[in-house]
Amino acid sequence: MHAGDEVLLVVDVQNDFMPGGALAVPRGDEVVPVINRLAARFAHIVLTQDWHPADHSSFAAQHAGRQPFESIALPYGEQVLWPVHCVQGTTGAKLHPDLHAPHAQLVVRKGYHREVDSYSAFMEADRRTPTGLAGYLRDKGVRHVICAGLATDFCVAWSALDARAAGFEVSVIEDACRAIDLNDSLELAWQALAAAGVQRTTSSAL
Ligand SMILES: [Zn+2]
Repeated sequence: MHAGDEVLLVVDVQNDFMPGGALAVPRGDEVVPVINRLAARFAHIVLTQDWHPADHSSFAAQHAGRQPFESIALPYGEQVLWPVHCVQGTTGAKLHPDLHAPHAQLVVRKGYHREVDSYSAFMEADRRTPTGLAGYLRDKGVRHVICAGLATDFCVAWSALDARAAGFEVSVIEDACRAIDLNDSLELAWQALAAAGVQRTTSSAL
């Protein structure tokens, strides 16, 4: 069992990010059994849930003439536009039914401000509004944040980078994540993670 100063951060393992979902991550469902095996070995688990209002500003449908996966400038910076996904209270926003981490202590919902996206579990996309997770983890004595989930190159990478910036030791478990990989975003994410001192590991090495 991993010690209490290590937390398994399970990012956005939700129906809409699964094959057939509104914003499907290729082979996203393959992370579920890997995460379930890991979860059994962690005393401390935090889950995240992308959790948008129906008119969220990251949805292409909110911008006339725009298509999903285009980028636009929003007041806080560049934003990729997405299909409508993970709307609050919908089946698509639910955690995958086979995810088994009943002892997880906290679910962080993110992206609930209409005007601001939040890939990161720690900081909204305006880069100024904290979610409160860093303070929670510090209060719990966590030193090491170990990341899994979807998608490697967006919500997992941003969460890992922000955990590093908040002073935690951070690892990303490669085989417990899957990527969207839009315009080389996966390779760029791994480069940014390496540059920030995030460890790239596998579930078998943990
Ligand atoms: Zn989202």
